[in-house]
Amino acid sequence: MKVFLQTFGCQMNKLDSAIVESSLRDAGYQFANNAKDADVVLINTCSVRDHAEQRVMSHLGNLKHIKETRPDLVVGVIGCMAQRLGSELFKQSAVDIVCGPAQIAEIPRLIAEVMQEKKKTVAVTEKIRQISPDAQSLERFETEYSGDDTDIPAQAYVRAMHGCDKFCSYCVVPYVRGLETSRSPEAIIEQTKRLAQNGIKQITLLGQRINAYEYKAGDKTYCLADLLEMISEIDGIEWIKFVTSYPSQKYYKEIMQAMAELPKVCRYLHIPAQSGSDQILKAMNRGYTSAEYLELLDIARQIVPDIAIAGDFIVGFPGETDDDFSQTVDLVKKARYKNSFIFKYSPRPGTIADKRLEDNVPQEIKERRNHELLKVQEEISRALAAEVTGRTVKVLVEGPSKKSHQVDNLPQLIGRTSGDWIAVFNGPENLAGRFANVKITRTTPLTLFGELV
Ligand code: SF4
Repeated sequence: MKVFLQTFGCQMNKLDSAIVESSLRDAGYQFANNAKDADVVLINTCSVRDHAEQRVMSHLGNLKHIKETRPDLVVGVIGCMAQRLGSELFKQSAVDIVCGPAQIAEIPRLIAEVMQEKKKTVAVTEKIRQISPDAQSLERFETEYSGDDTDIPAQAYVRAMHGCDKFCSYCVVPYVRGLETSRSPEAIIEQTKRLAQNGIKQITLLGQRINAYEYKAGDKTYCLADLLEMISEIDGIEWIKFVTSYPSQKYYKEIMQAMAELPKVCRYLHIPAQSGSDQILKAMNRGYTSAEYLELLDIARQIVPDIAIAGDFIVGFPGETDDDFSQTVDLVKKARYKNSFIFKYSPRPGTIADKRLEDNVPQEIKERRNHELLKVQEEISRALAAEVTGRTVKVLVEGPSKKSHQVDNLPQLIGRTSGDWIAVFNGPENLAGRFANVKITRTTPLTLFGELV
């Protein structure tokens, strides 16, 4: 039996897919590169933006046509959209399985059930916004994951936290992934040791608010700084990254201190601001002002002077005026991010913003603000990247670049620095999964180009 597994969305989804793939391989399944060659098609979905959901719907339309000639093809929708829509997804006639993110451990069983009993099946958590994920069943599934077939050689994600209960007014995550829960340090360490034994050199700890990691065991409360210290002691793990940080003072200095003191912790902080206007931040229910946010960046740079910082922004949030937007532009200029992820607001069903706020910024204004903010960020990125010219940087090599221009018969490779800069250079393909030193000769806003040293 062959499975085609397609993944949309964030790192959490990529990790879920890696875990599903590993469990299906253990159950004897092989993997296909496209739906036509597969007996089972699984789509791991994202609900964060409307666009992502529309793409899944159009895939399901295509799969319906394939199923007309191959009625035995099993189609499963898993992840956030499955949790959000539940059995409503059966309106798409191609769908046989609907499985929420907290139920992915059940996928091998669900596939077997559909094949044997020829009936549609759904596994989601009722009232997920009021409960924490079923940690026990997920934990067993999670710790068994050994990172054998990661997308990028020698790199793996490790979940530190499930869910989120911040309820930012625009965000669907608390409604599809349940309340925030931290995994035990013991489970995370055990899993990371296993990954290291399988050749993983870089792990990225994942949490929707990773800096809020907190686990009580007896008299001791572990925070992310403790976790970073414990993981630093694992032989074989050489780089540790963590995403995504939420702007908050709690444990912040401890985490920055750990980054400054522990050589294995990468000097990279992804800390979304979302807006530079206090009025919009309040409407977003973010719980901080732009001044408080900028103070956090100052603290980070005081403790870790060479830190690379990335941001996230939503433009065109309900009620965002030209003045609100210009405050966002100001914040981006002051923050001097290495890069920013900029999105146009789209209402997500069920969220507070969707229920209470009118989506009243016209699409063309959203487009214009998006474009303008990208331009501002591009100039900052260009200047920061240019500072690296002439320096030699250490990268973890990911593999051949998509363009793959050959020089002296050597392919073009891609690697990432500790500060998450992408570096492109020519070198032997067997460097994938290994560290290399690259002398940077020229730069663009998002990429460093250089020569292998
Ligand atoms: S912190 Fe806010 S934006 Fe981030 S996942 Fe939680 S609710 Fe969503």
